[in-house]
Amino acid sequence: MEKIFNNTQIAFSLKSDTELDRAYFLFKLIANEPLVKIGTAVTNFALKAHLPVEGLIRATVFDHFCGGTTEEDCLTVVDKLFTKKVSSVLDYSVEGKEEEAQFDAALQMTLKTIEFAKERLAIPFAVFKPTGFGRLKLYEKIGEKQPLTPDEEAEWGRVVNRFDTVCKTAHDKDVALLIDGEESWMQDAADELVEAMMEKYNTQKAIVFNTLQLYRWDRLDYLKKLYERASTKGFYIGMKLVRGAYMEKENIRAEEKGYPSPICASKQATDENYDLTVRYMMENLNRMAIFAGTHNEESSYKLIQLMQDYGIEKQDNRIWFGQLYGMSDNISFNLAENGYNVAKYLPFGPVRDVMPYLIRRAEENTSVAGQTSRELNLLKTERQRRKLDNH
Ligand SMILES: Cc1cc2nc3c(=O)[nH]c(=O)nc-3n(C[C@H](O)[C@H](O)[C@H](O)COP(=O)(O)OP(=O)(O)OC[C@H]3O[C@@H](n4cnc5c(N)ncnc54)[C@H](O)[C@@H]3O)c2cc1C
Repeated sequence: MEKIFNNTQIAFSLKSDTELDRAYFLFKLIANEPLVKIGTAVTNFALKAHLPVEGLIRATVFDHFCGGTTEEDCLTVVDKLFTKKVSSVLDYSVEGKEEEAQFDAALQMTLKTIEFAKERLAIPFAVFKPTGFGRLKLYEKIGEKQPLTPDEEAEWGRVVNRFDTVCKTAHDKDVALLIDGEESWMQDAADELVEAMMEKYNTQKAIVFNTLQLYRWDRLDYLKKLYERASTKGFYIGMKLVRGAYMEKENIRAEEKGYPSPICASKQATDENYDLTVRYMMENLNRMAIFAGTHNEESSYKLIQLMQDYGIEKQDNRIWFGQLYGMSDNISFNLAENGYNVAKYLPFGPVRDVMPYLIRRAEENTSVAGQTSRELNLLKTERQRRKLDNH
């Protein structure tokens, strides 16, 4: 198959020379694992101590990985990306808030982004995180089938209502809604709730999408069982397929508590699990829709190949490719240029509140995690290409 992702001219067509240099510098910095570790600790301390570091964060990682501090800020980026046919998913990335008022605020923000999506072709999906709508411990308790106190019963009722409000709105406005996957110990309760939403609102097509983290070895079986239920009950399955972002946390907890890790035994096993699941969904596309959230070139090529094998149109609305803003532009822009459906997650929120998100990105881009060398090589290639062009 033609290797379309190597075209750096298309990948960075929206970046000025200065922006290209800034991205190169940034990835050079976060390639250094000890620096990321120290930087993370110092930044967290500085934010807690109310030291004026927000400007520095904004000028570096924040502006590279986020669309702005508010949803309105993001619209400039949304429009710019769409000039190259790359769509956006506005992602309110405030994390770690555990109060009712904040859950309600997240609900209101998600409703607002559904409204934004309704009005704009450039925003095909809305998204939210289950822990944005309820306490992680509560999900965990429900997942473990522990009895709830009357207060917790009422609290869970409010979580269910928040889910139902956004899913119903998404359905009524015909905007697809992605629901992120998080730690495995909260995921059972979230899955059950999302399944109920799919059954209720995915009667004509996939509107509500759950997430499968394919670093978990049990997910393909889970999907197969869900498919049986969906076929019997007559609803559609929307799934975002990712590898998963909490591997270290998962392994540490499993070891501490003495249960088998839910994570595949090796990177290769995760990759195989990802590919098998994509294939399974393609085989059952009559009842499914895929949002392939990955920066892995091989996985993306394989999905392109499967689309060709099954005679699926590039613009078929049941298949979307997704990357994060600030990463893997070579995949996003070249896919869009070649006519595929592509959307980038565009995170936004107050600088200090999106820190957990930014720290995850910095960590997955260290030299150890291995993403950076590819980003750096691409940026280097494009800088050289432009230099040669100017001579
Ligand atoms: C649009 C989008 C949406 C996303 N939404 C979510 C979400 O809802 N929930 C979530 O958790 N993450 C989400 N992510 C993050 C995603 O999980 C990470 O970006 C992803 O893990 C990176 O993997 P990759 O597919 O890009 O490919 P690669 O870089 O090829 O894979 C890296 C991943 O492989 C897995 N892995 C690495 N080493 C091992 C090992 N030794 N054993 C087993 N597995 C290993 C890990 O998951 C690691 O992150 C999303 C990403 C995108 C692009």
